[in-house]
Amino acid sequence: MTYKSHDVGPAYLDYNATSPTRPEALEAVLSAMQAVGNASSTHRSGRDASGRVDLARRQIADLLNCSHREIVFTSGATEANNLALRAAFAAGGKLVTSSAEHPAVLETAKALTAESSDSLVLLPVDEDGLVGMGAFRAALATNDVAIVSLMAANNETGVLTDLAPVVEAAHELGVLVHSDATQLVGRLPIDLAETDVDLLSLSAHKFGGPQGVGALFVRRGISLPYRPLLFGGGQERGWRAGTLNVAGIAGAGAAAEAAQKSLAAEASQIAQLRDVLEESLVEQVGDCRVNGARGQRLPGVTSITFRGAPADAVLAAMPDVAASEGSACSSGAPSPSHVLLAMGRSREEADSTVRFSLGYATTAHDIDRAVSSAVRAVRQVRAALAVPL
Ligand code: PMP
Repeated sequence: MTYKSHDVGPAYLDYNATSPTRPEALEAVLSAMQAVGNASSTHRSGRDASGRVDLARRQIADLLNCSHREIVFTSGATEANNLALRAAFAAGGKLVTSSAEHPAVLETAKALTAESSDSLVLLPVDEDGLVGMGAFRAALATNDVAIVSLMAANNETGVLTDLAPVVEAAHELGVLVHSDATQLVGRLPIDLAETDVDLLSLSAHKFGGPQGVGALFVRRGISLPYRPLLFGGGQERGWRAGTLNVAGIAGAGAAAEAAQKSLAAEASQIAQLRDVLEESLVEQVGDCRVNGARGQRLPGVTSITFRGAPADAVLAAMPDVAASEGSACSSGAPSPSHVLLAMGRSREEADSTVRFSLGYATTAHDIDRAVSSAVRAVRQVRAALAVPL
């Protein structure tokens, strides 16, 4: 079974929204769906299903370098984020996060603290999208923090958070750390034996697994008054009731294993392609700005503001390229990117920003097509909007 190339369709540069399914994942999903068995059943068919789940749990744990016992399968990172924040917040104290987080963290944090808005501390980010460590330390110094939640990599700009000093400072005060690592896992190595976060969220479709499946890493030994979102049969040690999505989980595991095998080679190849895309666009389009700390980004992401060219018009003018305006999760909504606004961009700049995100199957041919289409599209939109003298 091979992955179908996108040569005939648009050049697919929207990996941060979702990535093409890896052939290994497709095979594992199909194989699980061809079998029958509830992972909770004790007969042979049930054991076959639970065997697939166990394998996937180990494959995910290997990618993160943690124990398979620390993995709770969920329906994705949204659910994992909800579970983590809900549990930690229930322990009492403030919830500290940043204004550039994904809505799956931000909206959860706002909902949890709706009745006590001073329980929520939103740390600012600078113009490069980096969280201010001064504000972080000041928030910790109040000594009433339950949890710090900072994303490992930003979905819109790719900006990476240096988690080590965050964890060190938080743990000195006994504060738990959660990281939404949805955009990092499977794109860059992460070693949970070294990075001592307590809770971490991921979503399989960002690294070539199926949509609708993810996981929450819960470090063994942490004390957490867990609050399930779903009550029922007590699966996943009570964290997440409901019949396990065996096929999805098997696909997630297979994708994790495939991603792990090729991680280092893929990351450097993707970074090279991204740099070609970015440099070509900056040079050929002119009057644009790359968003996010250049030296501290995911290899496959570039967020570019094309001044004077609204992103919706640019994207409509290049139908042969699949890219995003701001974040895909909010596309269709008229509000500008909260991430870019938090980085100090104007509304107009935010509205004129396109995110290209590359991944494991991106080719030099995709990049050539994207460069020529985007250059043409931006010129066309700028010309159409130019006020005649
Ligand atoms: N966090 C981040 C950083 C994301 O990019 C996404 C997906 N856009 C999510 C959480 C939510 O993932 P899912 O929709 O798969 O639950």
